[in-house]
Amino acid sequence: MSMRNVVIIGSGPAGLTAALYTARANLQPLLIEGIESGGQLMLTTLVENFPGHRDGILGPDLMAEMRAQAEKFGAEIVQGNVTSVDLGSTPISVKTAEASVQAASLIVATGASARLLGLPSERALMGHGVSTCATCDGYFFRGLDIAVVGGGDSALEEAVFLTRFASKVTIVHRRSALRASKIMQDKARANSKIEWALDAEVDDILDTGKGEVTGMVLRDNKTGAKREIPLAGVFVAIGHTPNTSLFRGQLELDGNGYIVTRDGSKTNIPGVFACGDVQDHKYRQAITAAGSGCMAAIDAEHHLESIQPPPTTASSS
Ligand code: NAP
Repeated sequence: MSMRNVVIIGSGPAGLTAALYTARANLQPLLIEGIESGGQLMLTTLVENFPGHRDGILGPDLMAEMRAQAEKFGAEIVQGNVTSVDLGSTPISVKTAEASVQAASLIVATGASARLLGLPSERALMGHGVSTCATCDGYFFRGLDIAVVGGGDSALEEAVFLTRFASKVTIVHRRSALRASKIMQDKARANSKIEWALDAEVDDILDTGKGEVTGMVLRDNKTGAKREIPLAGVFVAIGHTPNTSLFRGQLELDGNGYIVTRDGSKTNIPGVFACGDVQDHKYRQAITAAGSGCMAAIDAEHHLESIQPPPTTASSS
């Protein structure tokens, strides 16, 4: 079983930034990628709001750059899905199907997965008119008609935000009652660019043949009747699921299952740090995730300095 100074779980902007910083601190980090290698940016096309890329960069290209940069400084990145962690032991134990590793510190960067409707067309058109991030992609829909799916605070907040760009935003919700707070409902209802398709579900998103969104088929939940509406974009805002099942019962989670961090990236267990969307349900941006990955790396470095003996190089036994 190998012993590491730092193990990082997750390979989105948070995990890869933590890998870059801990590698440059000569801590020889091991990063275990997880199932969704590269994280949510692998589902996007052009990213125009990551500083330093004035003409934008494709999400997968940005992740490939971050990965190469971390590897350049000595981060070891392995494929694999962590199946269990024991955070109560010292050192910490991390297991994948293939291997076990012990770590003096652990950085959790497992992210959150946007919930999806589960339609094949949704998956096929993701990044080609279908999006899960209004802040990231709203700008691409200037002067166009779009839809937001969901009836919670996120959906209504995103719909209101998107009216800055779109000519019309249709909110599609499967019930007549909205889940969103009253204040958010009032704000959305007062917005003349917002239309409502309540008691309606998305039956299909068009047009996979063309490789872009041209409309959606809505099914009325009361009558079963279907109708088609022309659109250029669909924002799916039906919630996120933080990837924290591995840590349940060990790390403190909030009511929605996100890891609670305090004083930077510290969790309730000394030596275990969390960064990125797994502990952030508010900002959820690549740049904020990367920033918090940097924080976790520095916090891990300070933790390693505080325990004896001081970390040297990775070794196997
Ligand atoms: P949420 O409150 O869980 O709402 C998810 C919405 O998506 C619900 O309306 C739900 O419908 C719908 N939905 C779920 N699965 C669906 C499916 N398969 N097909 C169609 N619709 C589906 O999630 P959220 O809006 O992301 O909010 C998460 C938390 O963050 C909440 O506590 C929220 O208050 C908070 N938040 C706060 C703010 C703010 O205060 N500014 C902003 C954003 C989020 P049903 O209602 O029928 O279940």
